[in-house]
Amino acid sequence: MKQDLLNWIRPEIRALKAYQVADASGLVKLDAMENPYCLPAEVLDQAQSGLLNAAINRYPDPAARVLRARIAEVMQLPAVAETVLGNGSDELIQMLIMAVAGAGRSVMSFEPGFVMYNMISRFVGVDYAGVPLTKNFAIDMAATEAAIAKQQPALIFIAYPNNPTGNLFAAEDIERIIKIAPGLVVIDEAYQPFAQHSFMPQLEHYEQLLVMRTVSKMGLAGLRLGVLCGHPELITEIDKIRLPYNINVLTQQTATIALQHIAVLEQQAARIREQRELMLQQLAALAGIEVFPSQANFILFRILQGNADDVFKHICDAGILIKNMKASAGSLKNCLRVTVGKSEENTAFMQALQAALA
Ligand SMILES: *Cc1c(COP(=O)(O)O)cnc(C)c1O
Repeated sequence: MKQDLLNWIRPEIRALKAYQVADASGLVKLDAMENPYCLPAEVLDQAQSGLLNAAINRYPDPAARVLRARIAEVMQLPAVAETVLGNGSDELIQMLIMAVAGAGRSVMSFEPGFVMYNMISRFVGVDYAGVPLTKNFAIDMAATEAAIAKQQPALIFIAYPNNPTGNLFAAEDIERIIKIAPGLVVIDEAYQPFAQHSFMPQLEHYEQLLVMRTVSKMGLAGLRLGVLCGHPELITEIDKIRLPYNINVLTQQTATIALQHIAVLEQQAARIREQRELMLQQLAALAGIEVFPSQANFILFRILQGNADDVFKHICDAGILIKNMKASAGSLKNCLRVTVGKSEENTAFMQALQAALA
């Protein structure tokens, strides 16, 4: 292609590498924090008959009122708060950053952290500052306070639990950040079903606080649905940026029915939490690795002897796809991340890992 055509693409975009999703065909998929369980047949039947009646010749309800009412109930939204929905929480992150972007504005989060905060800041052309976490992946409060004072960030993202590390930050550190932040603070609770800790009740106390959830990790990743909760006046502003029909009619219908059966999803999350505890114990008993605490549905561990690339390849050759963190910065050196799957999948993973370490 002619170079002068490509020159119309902004240099920051040309410098980016596209977000890579590994091909999982034929492999046990333990790389992307998906829930391994399907919905029971009777719930699927109900969802399917809903879909047959969906008016796909019409635009969906732009405000997704029925679904938002169900979400408010299921997620225990405080009466003072409102919601706006995104096509996955990734879209909400994009809407938030677009809403604050401008000359002299910056976005802040922590490193290692969720890559989308950084990537979307670049797409939108706003400065991003990633404050390094401590060696144990806790928030470095001295560094954070200094960075906030210097940068005056318009927006701070805090993943709670953090991805890719899996730990929950200290609630008092987060509360302190909320208090000293000059702008908005978003608590990203993508893994709330596995951590069972939430800042949702704090929406009553802090106008600058926003709480973000997603249905992806709880078992509905294919629907693409995220929820941002916060003060109605802030939500009204964010909603102006939302494209009019961002939640399609099939997602609105299916999510409404699935969330009617939230007890099923909660039971699945409980099974995943049990499996996580079992895997944490088994990993801690292995020589040659360091395993990090997790309150999420995945576990980060470091290969102490040898090379994480080799271990990753061994596990892949055994038919199991996990995530190699090698591309990430220094503190994740030689680290791998495994999603908690079904019991038999986790057993197969543990066997493959042991064989790779032997
Ligand atoms: C997976 C993940 C998301 C994205 O979720 P979607 O709703 O699927 O877009 C957001 N934040 C964190 C921390 C995640 O790990």
